[in-house]
Amino acid sequence: MKIGFIGLGIMGSAMAANLLKAGFPVTIWNRSPEKYEPLQALGATVAGSPREVAEAVDLIIAMMATPEAVTAVRDGADGILAGLSVGKGFIDMSTVDAHTSHESDRRVHEKGALFLEAPVAGSRKPAEEATLTIMAAGDRQLYDTSLPLLEKLGKKILYLGQTGKASALKLANNLVMGGALTALCEGLALAEKCGIDPCQLLEVLDSGAVANPMFRLKGPHIVANGEFPAAFPLKHMQKDLRLALRLAEETGQPLFATATINELYKAAIAAGCGDEDFSAVSRVIRK
Ligand code: NAP
Repeated sequence: MKIGFIGLGIMGSAMAANLLKAGFPVTIWNRSPEKYEPLQALGATVAGSPREVAEAVDLIIAMMATPEAVTAVRDGADGILAGLSVGKGFIDMSTVDAHTSHESDRRVHEKGALFLEAPVAGSRKPAEEATLTIMAAGDRQLYDTSLPLLEKLGKKILYLGQTGKASALKLANNLVMGGALTALCEGLALAEKCGIDPCQLLEVLDSGAVANPMFRLKGPHIVANGEFPAAFPLKHMQKDLRLALRLAEETGQPLFATATINELYKAAIAAGCGDEDFSAVSRVIRK
């Protein structure tokens, strides 16, 4: 099966590399061409546009920043849809809202092709190590045929049914992450204000009921308060909180804490932290 990969950011580059290492022929495209070189070294072919990718392969995967970025590569004369035809498949692994996925689903089907939304949980390292959690929804037939490929990207793969379910699950997952990370930053800041070594709070948390890999990974960086190199860019976490709040609005579900936490992440973007890791939100809390 010939694969196309569009969107070679932190996640997409690592995922495309894993497909190449697994032996799939992969054709790539990215808005910024400087991302091509490491993947070409692994054998990737570069196409001139998303349309050319879709024309050249059987299955197109996109890993884009935002719903707007998905639209930018999907639509128009040079977009993915323009190159799709009967029997092909399009898997959007970006974290987007259900509206974007439903629109992709509808327009992909108009071309006689199949669609899956398949956002992932797990950051830079799980993407590199192919240990992502993949939440898929949409055409079951495409899920079944692409499962061997998804297994080269992730270790836990769920099929959730109708398009829209996977994006909703992913947004629910990320609001929990954003909230938990915020609570960690606030606890560490308070401990420090009280003259307590914040590492002692990390130790206590790690020996109790809320011990988790994220606190273990991010905690020492937050305590050090130095650089926050992006694994999961803060601007993308704010995007996910914004999309979760919109979904909550549409479904009538109140999200009391998430609404406040979203304001905190907006303040962090305004403070210039958008391209840092989302744990850089601690800078705003410390102020
Ligand atoms: P990233 O490093 O910021 O990469 C984003 C990609 O989108 C790049 O290829 C970028 O192209 C492209 N892009 C952005 N705007 C575009 C536009 N208008 N037109 C065309 N291309 C555009 O993001 P990432 O961390 O890989 O995340 C990708 C997706 O996965 C996001 O939806 C994110 O929420 C989700 N996700 C991320 C993580 C994580 O830990 N990083 C974990 C789970 C899920 P350029 O290279 O030209 O900028």
